[in-house]
Amino acid sequence: MIQLVRGFKDILPDEIGAWNRIEKTTADLLASFGFSEIRLPILEKTELFRRSIGEMTDIVEKEMYTFPGSRDEMLTLRPEATASVARAYIQQRLYAVDPIQKLYTIGPMFRKERPQKGRYRQFYQINAEVFGIESPLVDAQLIVMLWSLFKRLEIFNLSVHINSLGCPACRPEFKNLLSGNLSSRGELLCADCQRRREKNPLRVLDCKVPSCQDAIAGAPVMSDFLCQACARHFDSVKRALNQQEIPYIINHRLVRGLDYYCRTAFEIQTTQLGTQNAVAGGGRYDGLVEALGGPSMPAVGFAVGIDRLVDILLQRGPQPGSVPDVFIAPLGDEAIRRSFEWSCALSLADIKTEADFSGKSLKALMKRADRVGADFVLIAGDQELQNGSVVVRNMKTKEQTSVPIDKIARQIKELITKKIRNPEASSQKSE
Ligand code: ATP
Ligand code: MG
Repeated sequence: MIQLVRGFKDILPDEIGAWNRIEKTTADLLASFGFSEIRLPILEKTELFRRSIGEMTDIVEKEMYTFPGSRDEMLTLRPEATASVARAYIQQRLYAVDPIQKLYTIGPMFRKERPQKGRYRQFYQINAEVFGIESPLVDAQLIVMLWSLFKRLEIFNLSVHINSLGCPACRPEFKNLLSGNLSSRGELLCADCQRRREKNPLRVLDCKVPSCQDAIAGAPVMSDFLCQACARHFDSVKRALNQQEIPYIINHRLVRGLDYYCRTAFEIQTTQLGTQNAVAGGGRYDGLVEALGGPSMPAVGFAVGIDRLVDILLQRGPQPGSVPDVFIAPLGDEAIRRSFEWSCALSLADIKTEADFSGKSLKALMKRADRVGADFVLIAGDQELQNGSVVVRNMKTKEQTSVPIDKIARQIKELITKKIRNPEASSQKSE
């Protein structure tokens, strides 16, 4: 038997309700914040990611799915979406229509990481990006948006971590000092950090190896080096979060893995997962659009890991996508023939319908109706057909009613509407 590729996974029907809920909640919320959806290819030229994410990052060094395309060109399955959204913003000249663009996209990303719980090689993200606004209020607004998204999904136990990474004016001094400081702790660092120390010392700060965390205790922190403009920017973010009563932690160790980030960096963590506790990360990347050949343009965005949110929702039990409203249980050839007709009519009237044409016994059909979770079962045998009616059974209350054949669609619709309006009503007799 051919199995799926390691680190990849199937998303089955008993999870799909959670996926749909997250995607629908996101689309509604982001629309209210003025975002438009954009859909992009999952394949891009490798050069796009090398240039935007940076050579000295884990992603570019070892996690990308890269292969030769046509004309001596290397292609890569996107490991993140920001670079692609920025590419589209530049290539499609969206900035010429309006430099301010608020865009979001939902889709799969690919990273060749060590697979484990909460870490997959194909995983899904919600990406939101704002181009053309330098104001720190937008940084705060993105965090407010994330906070509301999680609240609407009833995901609590969250902590918001924020930091400022400075800008090209103030970061180099910090980077130098940090690099020097780290060389004195050289042999305490893991092999990866030994390499990062010179070229990308900021990455050492968020290394997950415990001995590295010990080694950097007391290392200099960026917030002591922020220039006036960056310090003011960071203060405004904090003030705006206070105003919205969003609690946050200033985390000096928080850096983004991607080279193009500057100023605000943030991450949202939850205690509802194990070690893979980050559910969203983002920040400002004012230099990226220009670095990719576009105009000089401030930008800020975030990525939410959908798989991890799904894991949280699934801890509460299966979240099936679609349960039939009605299950048709025909007994005998004539009833099976008629049930085909009814099922088409009901489905076309937007009633979720499952008909069983197998010709099995009533007992077997009822068992299946129960398994698929149908609310009502429509039972029809020779006797019923002769009387010109069918029996509709409410699976919860066990109540049965006789419904004339020509009124099936209307009556079923009525029963379902009643149930939706007042889910308890069907089980309570008039009081
Ligand atoms: P982590 O610290 O967990 O490796 P990251 O900093 O690499 O995360 P980002 O690139 O900021 O993650 O992506 C944003 C979000 O995407 C993360 O917060 C996480 O929820 C999710 N994510 C990242 N990598 C994976 C993965 N391999 N599998 C599942 N979700 C992931
Ligand atoms: Mg990672």
